[in-house]
This record gives sequence, structure tokens and C-alpha cells, in this order.
Amino acid sequence: MARFDAGFCHVSDISRAAPEYALKTRHLESIHVRIRPIRLCNCGMLVLLMDLDLRICSQARLSRDPHFDGRFFIGVRSSGVYCRPICPARTAREENVRYFPTAAAAAEAGFRPCLRCRPESSPGTPAWLGTSATVSRALRLISESALEDGGVEALAERLGIGSRHLRRLFLQHVGATPAAVAKTRRLHFAKKLIDETTLPLGEIALASGFGSVRRFNSAFQDTYQRSPSQIRKLAHLSGALPENQYCFRLRYRPPFQWESLLAFLAPRATPGVECVAEGTYSRTIDLDGKVGLLAASLNETSMALEIRLSFPEPRSLFRIVERVRRMFDLGAEPSAMIAHLKSDSLLARRVLNKPGLRVPGAWDGFELAVRAILGQQVSVKGATTLAGRLADQFGKRVNQGSNLTRLFPSPRVLAESDVSRIGLPKNRAQTIRELAREVHEGRLTFDASQSHEEFRSRLQQIPGIGDWTSQYISMRALGDVDAFPASDLGLLKNSGIDSPRALTERAQAWRPWRAYAAMYLWQGDAELSVTGSVGAIQEDDSTTKRNSYRQSDSTFEESLHGSNVELCRG
Ligand SMILES: [Zn+2]
Repeated sequence: MARFDAGFCHVSDISRAAPEYALKTRHLESIHVRIRPIRLCNCGMLVLLMDLDLRICSQARLSRDPHFDGRFFIGVRSSGVYCRPICPARTAREENVRYFPTAAAAAEAGFRPCLRCRPESSPGTPAWLGTSATVSRALRLISESALEDGGVEALAERLGIGSRHLRRLFLQHVGATPAAVAKTRRLHFAKKLIDETTLPLGEIALASGFGSVRRFNSAFQDTYQRSPSQIRKLAHLSGALPENQYCFRLRYRPPFQWESLLAFLAPRATPGVECVAEGTYSRTIDLDGKVGLLAASLNETSMALEIRLSFPEPRSLFRIVERVRRMFDLGAEPSAMIAHLKSDSLLARRVLNKPGLRVPGAWDGFELAVRAILGQQVSVKGATTLAGRLADQFGKRVNQGSNLTRLFPSPRVLAESDVSRIGLPKNRAQTIRELAREVHEGRLTFDASQSHEEFRSRLQQIPGIGDWTSQYISMRALGDVDAFPASDLGLLKNSGIDSPRALTERAQAWRPWRAYAAMYLWQGDAELSVTGSVGAIQEDDSTTKRNSYRQSDSTFEESLHGSNVELCRG
């Protein structure tokens, strides 16, 4: 199968081209070749990135390349449907197709979703679009159902811009308005529920946010020219599941290093709350006061994660599925990231050894933040033991399977509890309490209404949270793929760079994918790892130094042994 990595220009290639450049052709009106300078926050560096170009779209379509699945959609004029690049249907002639950056843009142009390749099953949009940070944040808010809570005006207000400006940005970068994006998502999710569950159609109408069965029916009739029940007849459901149990397949763009992701999550699994066994990650979940269980495993043949879900409230399914996508970084676009990072000699062999590493996200931002604080200045194993005690003493008891007996404690409970009882130093217990209070009282959120920089600076106002902790939380709880905890001892050791400042400078070249670079460096393959000294660290205290010198091995667990160490404040 042909690969098109080369299509994603490297900065040096692009800098030879004109900075602002758009290509249109007679047949392909959608503008897809855009090269423009993007100034990234705080670093002062000018990064040039290119959207997919028409030639690459065309090649990807002709070879049905899964690396591009979900990155663009193809409208076929003769049939009036829009498809994924991998559609098994007969390939249309080039002059009969149009390319769109999103499904919503294709829908807005009057195309219907294809019933064969099911555009609703394509992998999600990358978290970092290479275009507009505001649009990325808005898309994430929409996936958290933000448009249901007050429409475009309220969405724009949460982002701190005017609604007309937001619409303009959406048209420029996504090719459709925010309302059209939300409508397409609702419809796609409803289609997924029809195809993949046995939920009654009335329940699906409500679960996918249509508000009424009448609106649901008419949206389907308009879009698919079929009623929901006709669509269900076409679905190939394989065996009904018991009530409140669901199985979803969530697609990713290959390659996907699932084993590496599990190897990262396993030593960090909070006893009673999470479990990694036999290729499956499972955990207890709670949402709006309801409790359930989710389990994720790889289905390599379908290029999908298989999610088994047990949850009593179908109306929460949309939010749960979107959270799960972020948890496992299913929107990642590995081809572009690999092409970028492999050009650095420090990362090249690591990247080529394990192409497609993901940045592990989190089910819940607060839980992840507490875990990060528990991990300050102790080993991963030590932090996991503490987290288990925390869940055991303060988490609600539930019964979701033999090992899964607890919910992670809520912000309200931890804000009012003496957390030091689990054997935690007083100042760290105080940091957790303070964090819990901020979250409980609504001053700190983990949603996309703020920029990553604003989020980190809010976090750092809590005594005991410095740069390392806030970068790590930003990376895993917000899905900030450019976050980079440069003072991390594991990163310093494995990169052979002797100071956080020098590492920060080196990492400028890895933007906007520094979090992936961190994952590669943490991996610390014995054969590849650099054995340089970490003696140049200055902010260190004796405890952290002891920890850092103990790390010597190649596994995630060992190489991260000293990594969960906060160097800046405490
Ligand atoms: Zn198709």
C-alpha cells in the first residue's frame, strides 16, 4: 500500500514555498492546499504547516489509504453521496469528485453519507488541526455537547470570542458552521446507535440529542432518504447484548501501538478503579451520578478499539464515547507526526521502531491531576499504591466486577477530607485538597473553554503544582499534544541532554507534537537509550536525586521511575 508521508511537508520544505498559497482547480473547488504561517503561543517560533493537498487526497482515495481515513471526505457528484477514502465502492472518476475537510462540510454541500463506508465510523478529527487553536477547542466543546447548552452564542462566549467570528473561523478551517458540525455529529452518532446497538429508536432520538422522535425521523429522511427503521433493517447487528450493555467499534488511523499504551497504563492503574489484563483496559466510570463500567481492547482487523460499555443511562452514551476517543488518542494522525519526528536523530530510531505511539489521555481530568500530584517524588509503583489507598478510603464502593470495586473519589469528598491519612506528606495532601476545592467550586475545569496556557497557569496557582505537574496534566487530561514536561528526569536521562533548558530548546523542533516526542523518549528502549548523566540538574533535592539515579532500565515503568518527580515547587 502506498504511503504518502511525503505529502506532509517538513518545515524546511515548506519554508521554500510561498507562505500564503492556495490551489484551486476547475473540478475540485474545495481548497485543500493551504500553506500558511502559524505562530505558536509563547515560543515565538513560526511554524509552517500544510493541509492535505489535492494530489495527495487523490492518491489516498485511489489507493484507499487508511492513514487518511477521517482526514478528508469525498463527495461523488454522480451518486450524491460522500465517502471515506477507504470506501470499498467502485472508484469514481476524478472529475466527478470533490474533497472536503470534514463530513459536515460535505453534508453542507448537499451530499448524503454513504451507506457502505459509513462516514460516521471514521476516526475523529485530530486534536491539533494545524489550523486554529480556537477551532480545535470549539470542536472539543461541541463533542462535550456544548451546543446543546445554549447554541452558538453560548459556545462563542465560552471561547471568549464573538459568534460571527467563530462562524467565520469554522467556515475557513472546517468548511461548515458550528451548528452544521453539531448537527452532523448528532446524526452520525444516531446512525452508529442504530447500526451497533439494539436500543429502541425512541431512545436513540433522545440519546443523540434530537429532542423529539419527529425531529429525529425527519433528519434521517432528509439525509438518508430513509426512515430510521429502514436504516436499522440494513444494519448487520451481531447478537443482542443485555439491557444497558453496549459494544462500539471506534476506528483509528494506523499504526496504533496498543501494547505500548497498555504498558504505560498498567503500572499506573489505580487498584479497585482500573485494571489492565489480557490486552484489555477496564475501569469504573461515573457520569451525572450514574455508575458503569468500560472495557477497551484492540480489534486490529477492523483497525478499531472495541469498547464494551455497561451504563444505565443511554443519554450519556454520546459523551462517554467522545471521552473514550480522547482517552485513547483515537483522533491522532500518526503519519504526519511520524514524518515530523523521525527527522530528528534523537527520535528517529525510536519512532521507526514503534511507529504510531499514542499519548494516553484520561477518563477524568481531576482524577488524572490527583494521580500526577501523588506521583511527585515517588516511584510509579509508590504512586499507584497511594492512589489505591485513596480510592479505598474515600472512593464510593461499587460492584462492577471482581477487581473493580471503587469509583475514584470525587472533588467534593477530597476537598473535605484529611488526605494525609493515606500516608502522604502534609504539603502534598494540602495540594490535593486545594486542587479538589478549586475543581469542586468550579474555579478550575478540564474542558476546552480555556487555552492550554491559561489552564496551566491556573493550575500553577495552586501551591505544590509547578511546571512539570501542569505540563503532564495538560498533556494527559486536556489532550495537549504539544505539552512537554522538560524538567522530567526520565526525559533528560533518555535524551542525554543535561538541563531542562537545553531540552526545551531542542524540543522546539518537535512542535506541535512534543507530547509524542516525550512518549518516545520515556519509552527508553535499552538499545536506544542514552546513558548520559543527569548530574547537571540543579533544582533537585536529595530525594529526587536518589530516585533519578535508581532508574536504569528500559521499560516504561522503570524509565518513568524518577519521572514523576516535581522539580519546581513543592
Ligand atoms: Zn462510501
